[in-house]
Amino acid sequence: MTKNSAQLELSKEAMQAYGYQVVDAIVNHHCTQNDQLPVALGSREEMDSLFLEEAPEQGSNHEDVLQFVLEKVMTNSTNMSHPKSYSFVPGPSNYVSVMADALATGYNIFSGGWVASPAAAELEIITIQWLLKIFGFPSKKGGGIFTSGGSMANLTALTTARKVKCGQDFSKAVIYLSDQAHSSNIKAIRVLGFKKEQIRIIPTDIEFKFAVNKLKNCIAKDRLEGLQPFCLIATSGTTNTGTVDPLEELSKICKKEDIWFHIDGAYGAAAILSKSGKALMKGIEKADSLTVDPHKWFFQPYEMGCLLVRNHKHLSQTFTEKPEYLRDIEGNTSEINFYDHGIQLTRRFRALKFYMSIKTFGLKAFRKAISYNISLAEKVEDHLRGSQHWEVVFPATLAVINFRYHPIGKRYTAQQLDKINQYISEQVVASRKALLVTTVLHGQVVLRMCLINPRTTLNDVLDTLKLCEHFANALLAPSSVEN
Ligand SMILES: *Cc1c(COP(=O)(O)O)cnc(C)c1O
Repeated sequence: MTKNSAQLELSKEAMQAYGYQVVDAIVNHHCTQNDQLPVALGSREEMDSLFLEEAPEQGSNHEDVLQFVLEKVMTNSTNMSHPKSYSFVPGPSNYVSVMADALATGYNIFSGGWVASPAAAELEIITIQWLLKIFGFPSKKGGGIFTSGGSMANLTALTTARKVKCGQDFSKAVIYLSDQAHSSNIKAIRVLGFKKEQIRIIPTDIEFKFAVNKLKNCIAKDRLEGLQPFCLIATSGTTNTGTVDPLEELSKICKKEDIWFHIDGAYGAAAILSKSGKALMKGIEKADSLTVDPHKWFFQPYEMGCLLVRNHKHLSQTFTEKPEYLRDIEGNTSEINFYDHGIQLTRRFRALKFYMSIKTFGLKAFRKAISYNISLAEKVEDHLRGSQHWEVVFPATLAVINFRYHPIGKRYTAQQLDKINQYISEQVVASRKALLVTTVLHGQVVLRMCLINPRTTLNDVLDTLKLCEHFANALLAPSSVEN
């Protein structure tokens, strides 16, 4: 079986056969997923009963291990690429990028420095250039870096903002974000060691946008107290409702107040590739830094986030950690060492999947997919508005729609409606037929669909709504389901 197990090797024939089995499993998964249940449920006890063991001193047959994993691990994982995975932000990956990841891992390319892999660094530079252009950032001065995800991109951004605006002393620094900002920002702020008193969570208006006047008042008050407003985090596509903050207006405030303008576009910013999305993203090009998450709406497999900055020097100023006297032997400064632009030294070759999928399908396919997603959510909204059973709580925005079961003519208290919708979600998830969970908007429990999977059809959604109605009926008219 093994060639020389102390070298951790398989024979050439075994490697090939093993590889084909893995590829067959992935392709089979992709092609049959519509017939499979998206949701996996399992308690710690159940998972322990499958997997708990000491690290085995003796190995086993590699094909047996693979079979065990395919049968027990993969089947017990929720499929975020499934057309009926509507919750959180789905991860509708694509096969070309999956194979690109296999290549990057198979060749184990070190994507930290230029010398280690000029081509990997060059592809990161080129694909970052593509993104800078898409988002209207300056192409010469601008820069960026691929990260593991949006959380790391936000952390990288806030670290940079603090370095550029505060230098060494951030004891008086104050940071502003809205109550709809993603939790990863608060995490990043905490990681950076800011105190609670340095964080301003600004309320949002009825549309969940930054309440600009409240923000202005807050900044003015902080100035009066001798504090240093240094960074504002806007969101282009809040995770809850898809709302885009008033970017133009916020950028003006930041400019006037000398505040770093960070935009968290982890899920929503990609919508700039569509016509209607582009209109909503007006002002995004004014950001000092922008988080985009290609493993969301650029259809890449996990993990891939991205931070773009308007001035690439801000990244190197923040993250370069070497004596000044070594700079001269670094060679050409255009030959970027990405370990000097972010937190990681050893990095996987993330740019490859982005590069290969865009080369293969073309940006046009991405534009089409994103436009399709946005219009699908609008069609779902139309359907809900035309139905007796449903109420649209927040209109379709950037492929997100919030709604709840609320039959016309029936009087339910707010609490009853919350309970009904909570129940629907719990039953749907328990059935494993769709991943559909609730969120809370204006104090109401609502159902939320994020429709960024280009393989989700209107029929998939109508099917899921029928399932929801079935559970609602069972709850509200118990006598009718008794037999
Ligand atoms: C998903 C998301 C994040 C976090 O990104 P990860 O890739 O999950 O780390 C940050 N901000 C927003 C707006 C998001 O939707």
